[in-house]
Amino acid sequence: MACDVLVVGGGSSGICAALQSARAGAATVLIESAHQVGGTMTTGGVNFPGLFHAWGRQVIAGVGWELVTKAVALDDGRLPDFTRPTGRCHYNHQILINIPLFVALAEEALVGAGVTLHYHAAPVRIKALSKGWRVHTAAAGNLRAITCRQIVDCTGNGSAAALAGFERLQARARQPGTFIYRINPNTDLSKFDADELQARYDAAVKEGVLQRNDCRWSLLNYLQRGGDTANYVENADNSTAEARTRTNLRGRAAALRMLRFLRSIPGLENTRLESMSPEVGVRETYRVRGEYLITHRDYTSGKRWKDSVCHAFYPIDLHRQATGVQPAHLEEGVVATVPLRALLPKGSRNLLVAGRCISSDQRANSALRVQATCMATGQAAGAAAALAAQHGISPAEVLVEEVKALLMSHGAIVPG
Ligand SMILES: Cc1cc2nc3c(=O)[nH]c(=O)nc-3n(C[C@H](O)[C@H](O)[C@H](O)COP(=O)(O)OP(=O)(O)OC[C@H]3O[C@@H](n4cnc5c(N)ncnc54)[C@H](O)[C@@H]3O)c2cc1C
Repeated sequence: MACDVLVVGGGSSGICAALQSARAGAATVLIESAHQVGGTMTTGGVNFPGLFHAWGRQVIAGVGWELVTKAVALDDGRLPDFTRPTGRCHYNHQILINIPLFVALAEEALVGAGVTLHYHAAPVRIKALSKGWRVHTAAAGNLRAITCRQIVDCTGNGSAAALAGFERLQARARQPGTFIYRINPNTDLSKFDADELQARYDAAVKEGVLQRNDCRWSLLNYLQRGGDTANYVENADNSTAEARTRTNLRGRAAALRMLRFLRSIPGLENTRLESMSPEVGVRETYRVRGEYLITHRDYTSGKRWKDSVCHAFYPIDLHRQATGVQPAHLEEGVVATVPLRALLPKGSRNLLVAGRCISSDQRANSALRVQATCMATGQAAGAAAALAAQHGISPAEVLVEEVKALLMSHGAIVPG
């Protein structure tokens, strides 16, 4: 099989990279190791992408925004009022998405654009050719060799870049993941005393029945909100099949612990597990070392470069296993940007990264990893890859003005 652009990983960034590449006329293949597109947003249950707006104006649009707004409209949902400032509650501008609907719409758009989609497949070997790559993939039931001109790594972990021989970075203390599942206590919670419930939780932790981070909120709050994002999964990692398996086993075991514990409390015997995301949401594994590395200072000062291809807007959001998270908000008026060089692994040719694994330090990455930004970097990488394939050159050699013009013609907002 041969194509112009091979996108590896079909999360928020991969969907947008593949869509942009195909709509720009490049023969595009998307391989995804899971059973559906959307990645952390869908398979990880984090169905509240943000942030597309900053300080009263839209800063990220393009193909990701197109899909998000389609999903909201077809679900009779409502967009937040983006003209109302959020103050410290930045999450009020995130957009609630119906997960299966988003998956179906993304698939429809990808197939409609001519993208060839392979589920359950991952690269096992990547070899440089004079004008591109030969990528061997393994999938349930088949081995495939794909020859392509450009690769866009949207795995969230820089897995394809690493297979191709490029450097990845990882922090000494990785942020925890979170397993999103929902419980229903099936009872009137007003009859419960918050302190008494909490004392039961603390005792269960002491006895080893529960682990401290199985519920990081007060237990009553957890019950009122149906579970949701209350836990931390320590050292969550999905960068290899083994690590992904271990992480998911730990997440599901924690949900079972909580369910059994709750059903042991008088009055909560009818608690039920209503839904479980297919996988644990992973916040951090590896970042690629790029031609430029976005620092915390770059991010918080809203630095612009000549090759800034998109905006990024979210507080610094560093989670710690022991202490949780205290988001650090950007100063009024500041909007960060991402240079194309942060999407190019250092010393690479014919390969880009997008999404969570772009070249950045840990603190900057804790903000850059959010879905609107992943969509924007994905679209930018898809545009650069398609142009590079068309011209028979490497993405670093494509004129940034040409990348920006292509992005704008597909609805993206690029920094002026
Ligand atoms: C608990 C939690 C809360 C969060 N809260 C928010 C929030 O409030 N708002 C927000 O916008 N963002 C939030 N985020 C961050 C955001 O969801 C992710 O960082 C973002 O979705 C990552 O997108 P991505 O495209 O880079 O990677 P992913 O969405 O992780 O997609 C990567 C895809 O690549 C596939 N893949 C991986 N390796 C391979 C391989 N070798 N071959 C083929 N396919 C592969 C995976 O199966 C996956 O589908 C949160 C994340 C977590 C975990």
